[in-house]
Amino acid sequence: MKNNGLIMPATQRTLLAVPITAADTASARRQIQSAQAHRADILEFRLDHMAEADWPTLFDEASLPVIATLRPKDQGGRFSGSEDQRLELLAEIAKARPAFIDFEWPHFAASSRARQLISSITCDSLDADKPALILSLHDFQSVPSNLNETIARMSNAPAAIVKVVCMAQSIQDNLPLLDFAHQSARPAIILGMGQAGQISRVLAAKLGTFLSFSCLSLDESSAPGQIPLDQLRSVYRWDRITEQSLLFGVVGSPIAHSLSPAIHNAAFEQTDFAGLYLPFLVEPGYENFTQFMDGFLSRTWLDLRGLSVTIPHKENALRYLSDCTAEIDPLACKTGSLNTIVISPDGQLAGYNTDLDGALDALTDGMGITRSDLSGRKVAVLGAGGAARAIVVGLTQAGAQVLIYNRTASRAQRLAEEFAATAVPLAQLAKTPARIIINATSIGMHPDIQASPFPSDALKPDMTVFDTVYNPQQTLLLTQAAQAAATTISGTEMFIRQAAKQFELWTGQAAPIDTMHQVLYRALA
Ligand code: NAP
Repeated sequence: MKNNGLIMPATQRTLLAVPITAADTASARRQIQSAQAHRADILEFRLDHMAEADWPTLFDEASLPVIATLRPKDQGGRFSGSEDQRLELLAEIAKARPAFIDFEWPHFAASSRARQLISSITCDSLDADKPALILSLHDFQSVPSNLNETIARMSNAPAAIVKVVCMAQSIQDNLPLLDFAHQSARPAIILGMGQAGQISRVLAAKLGTFLSFSCLSLDESSAPGQIPLDQLRSVYRWDRITEQSLLFGVVGSPIAHSLSPAIHNAAFEQTDFAGLYLPFLVEPGYENFTQFMDGFLSRTWLDLRGLSVTIPHKENALRYLSDCTAEIDPLACKTGSLNTIVISPDGQLAGYNTDLDGALDALTDGMGITRSDLSGRKVAVLGAGGAARAIVVGLTQAGAQVLIYNRTASRAQRLAEEFAATAVPLAQLAKTPARIIINATSIGMHPDIQASPFPSDALKPDMTVFDTVYNPQQTLLLTQAAQAAATTISGTEMFIRQAAKQFELWTGQAAPIDTMHQVLYRALA
């Protein structure tokens, strides 16, 4: 037996489990070797997938503790025999002495025969000389409304570990799972399936659950939302997460491809700051934003200390903080949106818009000037959306003469009137008198990379062209501007600077800009 007693007391940390799902012995052996090479802590043998595999030999060969699972079809597995056949086979499996046997709560609750047999072949503690019982609940559709009641019943059963796995339809669906992990007196496993539930797979480590399921690659995952082991370690710093980790994240929709988790977690690593930064998928709408904030802030044990806010919630963030009469940076108020929230240990909120400083610093650093040098200079801002607004606020504050060009002329007009700028018809863009050109539209952004918002023949060597688009790093506009011998500034410079300001607001430390640059460039390469 791979003595399960050796696992828990020695490590006291959340284990990383990898499912072995191959059908035949050779493929399963390859998966096991790969899991061991990737430093998995524990293997789940999905015996319902491994019908053709010589699992007793594989049990013996594995140098990691094994969870034996024989999932029936009605619980999302592949075992298609009768329940009697399954119980018989589980008794056989127990003789091969895996460290754990996973058995499903609905089958345990429904049948006294199942209860009897499972109780006889397993034990309810981690240090006995029998496989320990993991009692598991799965819901592949949603978080059931009677979850707490079911958990209470499961907690009274003779199991070593209670495992709850539910499909998270929204970020809010993580909360009952996190509450259970936080309150559970015995070792727990919680997993939110799907993209919205991914955060629970990482927060498992902060909440000290028994294990979290990972996979070797997305192709080999056994449940939706599993995060590959390498990514858990490299992006989320799995090995550094502790109960004391302070929580940060980016709120937006969509959020799966956000580069912010990689950049901020790398900055935490570089500065040895005990932070954990996650992507929070919050669907559009003020109500969804409010529910997210209220739900996560009220659970003070999550230690939420800071948020980046992105599309479509920047205006919602300003509204939420205004409704809470929180402290809001006056310039951020003018921009009409927030991209940064700072949360103090006593729950006080403060809001900022670091896009403004990020853009202005990228521009002045790129030109080798100070902000006051912008005074009196003509600057053409292309666009009249959120980014343009922050830039117009910053530029007018610095005394620049701002000319706004936008597809929807009325929007440009409104923005210009609000900040004493000038709206100019788009048709006159080629003849702009400005020598600083800032693209704050999404034109040229991936995947539409063959588009440019500015006529190439109007680009001149005495111009500075700043494209706020950062994916791709080198847009068509910047390529054409470089060909015209103009000075160019990439949106990556703004992105890094706005992120660096966030880091400084949250940690009170100087941001490791070089590290943040490297991570961003690597991700965009
Ligand atoms: P937004 O509020 O949706 O505004 C989009 C702007 O682009 C509007 O002015 C819109 O014109 C214009 N636009 C969009 N598609 C167009 C098209 N096909 N032709 C002409 N105009 C078009 O978006 P946002 O938040 O301001 O973001 C704008 C850009 O800033 C994005 O590319 C984003 O990546 C970039 N950004 C960069 C950073 C950074 O850190 N580097 C930070 C924030 C934003 P209408 O008014 O006519 O719709």
